[in-house]
Amino acid sequence: MRISCCGVCRTDLHLAEGDLEPRRAQVTPGHEVVGHVDAVGPGARRFAVGERIGVAWLGRTDGTCRFCRRGDENLCTEPLFTGWDTDGGYADACLVDERYAYRLPDALTDEQAAPLLCAGIIGYRALRCADVPPGGRLGIYGFGGSAHLTAQVALAQGLEVHVFTRGEHNRELARTLGAQSVSGAADESPVPLDGAILFAPAGELVPPALRALDRGATLAVAGIWLSDIPRLDYAAALFQERRLRSVTANTRLDGEQFLRLAARLGVHATTVTYPMDQASAALADLAHGRFGGAAVLVN
Ligand SMILES: [Zn+2]
Ligand SMILES: [Zn+2]
Repeated sequence: MRISCCGVCRTDLHLAEGDLEPRRAQVTPGHEVVGHVDAVGPGARRFAVGERIGVAWLGRTDGTCRFCRRGDENLCTEPLFTGWDTDGGYADACLVDERYAYRLPDALTDEQAAPLLCAGIIGYRALRCADVPPGGRLGIYGFGGSAHLTAQVALAQGLEVHVFTRGEHNRELARTLGAQSVSGAADESPVPLDGAILFAPAGELVPPALRALDRGATLAVAGIWLSDIPRLDYAAALFQERRLRSVTANTRLDGEQFLRLAARLGVHATTVTYPMDQASAALADLAHGRFGGAAVLVN
């Protein structure tokens, strides 16, 4: 595919900073890739040359392990990930397995579509994992690229959204989108939460987020990497059937469902663009919280 733009995900930063071990030397990062089919390989017939496609984190699964067979391909034991195992979208062009690419809704521009491909899809899966009942109260800890998309879906579904974050850009964005309350990252919640998602890669936020949950509610940790979780007090953090769970990658079905939903609801990514050769600057700005929303590298 010929790449028009690629979103910058926090996972790229974890890879650049060494939190995540590279799975292949000199791999090109980037797994929110939007572009056009430039040429097709032998036997490839899903997309026509020139067609617009999107490429996400899940690059390949074996299709045969016990998790793939039961429909949980996000848990595949032999997966390949875009921009970790295979060369990704911080480039002019990349090679893609057509079975793992997405058609993109026409309503979305390239730049709007890019952040949906990881930040959006993973956030959507995390929202489902948090299992908030209809009309319930959702807590969102950390408010960046993924959270600001997830909040829009949650609000459109009629949930009440309470945001916990530092950084004035993101606090402002949360208020603009319609959050019921915006508090500091580790502040006490103004209300008991019916479910919560931790987007910040900060293990120290797990205990306050669990304490904020109502009985029987779930805290879903959306990130691929989390700093160490401090010692948990069982009675304060987990008893009364509160749950702590992680969110791991996504299935292609999650992706298809979310992209359709995002187009229908008019989910709007707040983006800041950088030229493709300024990827290092974009990652540094992400690390320092210098923008609200999501960064997109543009060719
Ligand atoms: Zn598998
Ligand atoms: Zn990502």
